[in-house]
Amino acid sequence: MAISSQEVLDSDVSHSDWKRFQIAYFSMEIAVAPDIPTYSGGLGVLAGDTLRSAADTALPLIAVTLVHRKGYFRQHLTADGVQTEEDQPWNPEAMLQPLAPVAAITIQGHPVMVRAWRKDIVGVDGHIVPVIFLDTDLDTNDAWDRELTDHLYGGDTFYRLCQETVLGMGGVAILTALGCQPIVYHMNEGHASLLTIGLLEEQVNGGNLLDATAADLDAVRSHCVFTTHTPVPAGHDRFSFDQARQVLGDERTQALEKFGCCHDGMLNMTYVALRFSRYINGVAMQHGRVSSEMFPEYNVHAITNGVHAATWIQPAMQILLDEKVPSWRRDNLYLRFAIGIAPNEIRSRHSEAKRQLISTVAERTGVSLHEDRFILAFARRAAAYKRADMLFSDPTRLARLAEECGGIQIVYAGKAHPHDDLGKDIIHHVIEASAQLNSDWLRIVYLENYEWELGAILTGGADLWLNTPRRPYEASGTSGMKAAMNGVPSLSTLDGWWIEGCIEGATGWAIAECDDETQEAESLYEKLENEILPLYYHYPDKWAEIMRMSMAINGSFFNTHRMLYQYVTNAYFPGDAPLRRKFQPELVLTR
Ligand SMILES: *Cc1c(COP(=O)(O)O)cnc(C)c1O
Repeated sequence: MAISSQEVLDSDVSHSDWKRFQIAYFSMEIAVAPDIPTYSGGLGVLAGDTLRSAADTALPLIAVTLVHRKGYFRQHLTADGVQTEEDQPWNPEAMLQPLAPVAAITIQGHPVMVRAWRKDIVGVDGHIVPVIFLDTDLDTNDAWDRELTDHLYGGDTFYRLCQETVLGMGGVAILTALGCQPIVYHMNEGHASLLTIGLLEEQVNGGNLLDATAADLDAVRSHCVFTTHTPVPAGHDRFSFDQARQVLGDERTQALEKFGCCHDGMLNMTYVALRFSRYINGVAMQHGRVSSEMFPEYNVHAITNGVHAATWIQPAMQILLDEKVPSWRRDNLYLRFAIGIAPNEIRSRHSEAKRQLISTVAERTGVSLHEDRFILAFARRAAAYKRADMLFSDPTRLARLAEECGGIQIVYAGKAHPHDDLGKDIIHHVIEASAQLNSDWLRIVYLENYEWELGAILTGGADLWLNTPRRPYEASGTSGMKAAMNGVPSLSTLDGWWIEGCIEGATGWAIAECDDETQEAESLYEKLENEILPLYYHYPDKWAEIMRMSMAINGSFFNTHRMLYQYVTNAYFPGDAPLRRKFQPELVLTR
């Protein structure tokens, strides 16, 4: 059912020339806008920030994801800390532009029709990065197939494999139908790795996949780049051969087996991506190393994640930066020049963001926090390895140090995946412990439904950003980067990005590396009691200097402009001067 390119152009509002997109970025989740619930957490926010930076830096990039008509989920918490979940239906028809082509892909032995929607991300100079949302909700599909693009990370492994087939194979088919001819296909995590089979099918052009030659495989590899995000083997997507055969059919399953995409008797999506990529990377220095050990037969590079500065810096601070370092929007590296801003100006802009956080807490919980008291925030997915309850391992000590040091206000937020009982237990424990500990000196609140806008308010308005992952489970982490850009230092175990970002006493503090969790908690209390709280309450000028260094030193590096520059140089077009030169005219023209 391919549609001629003329029809595509006719239906396409901005008449873009699809051929000019040289990089196709595939991600199961993308945080495109706060009111589009097609993301669950860090992976989707990273994808969205990547696209926003691609638009700012005029990269010829197009993105592909699923439409997720029912979103991820809205979290509700009962007074005693039990999480319940609700769908987040949204209306793509009202918010996206329809595209003409419909592609047919084979799932479970029959054709499933995939259509697409488009939303443009517009950069600082007007450059456009289109996001293609794949959708199977067509009345020509049967009821089961129509629901394949409903729930992000919903359903069971069978549903997931069907979704990954839509993303990978459907995405390649739609791009081809649009007339896109990307040079680079970037898989953001293994969910997208079936795109390689889509490309291999195009390569063998109707032939049997099992007859693909080494040259065919190399042709696919020459286009593919893979970013892995998970530092533990159990985190990688795997499916039984049985399921693979049911969903993908015998030929593709045998081909995947023949080409080394299986591991421990399972189809392993990470191995699919590894096998078919010419460049592979982890998302921080240590994560690259850990991944190399996990996949010794592959050369795994590292490109440390970042965040999109203009998305995450709070409005009051943005105004200050526009005055003092106007180039920061086009080039986030200029945040380094925040070192030339007076610390008290940074502190006063941060106070505005802090008041916003305080009023959000009041609106949502009825609890009034004090502006002149220290606010510590802990907000992230409630996964067991993040150890949200480490602060409560010695409640008496926490209560005592809050009283002796001048007061602590703690704001929590975070969702547990609906199937993650351990994560739900942690939320329950935090809320229970909070209820017992609340006093004049120690105020603890847990905010419902952590998502984009709440994340921005928290990372912008807190005084300290806390993170306590069990090493080496945090591949990168990005919320601390958002905090840093807002002048908010971190206290964290040395894991993920913090290994690179922590300059002790200058950009924040490290929780000591101990084998034993009690000792780590001990170090957490000790840093709060002996260094952080005394500095905050008694040496405000020194504190403001730390805020400034967080922005200047960490903000200027841990951003997606720098990250994308590294992808272009090392992953997309390594050593390929003619191709890289191709960007330059575009960069100049759009200014
Ligand atoms: C930034 C962000 C994340 C990722 O933060 P981590 O530090 O990687 O846990 C998750 N959820 C939301 C809503 C975010 O804004």
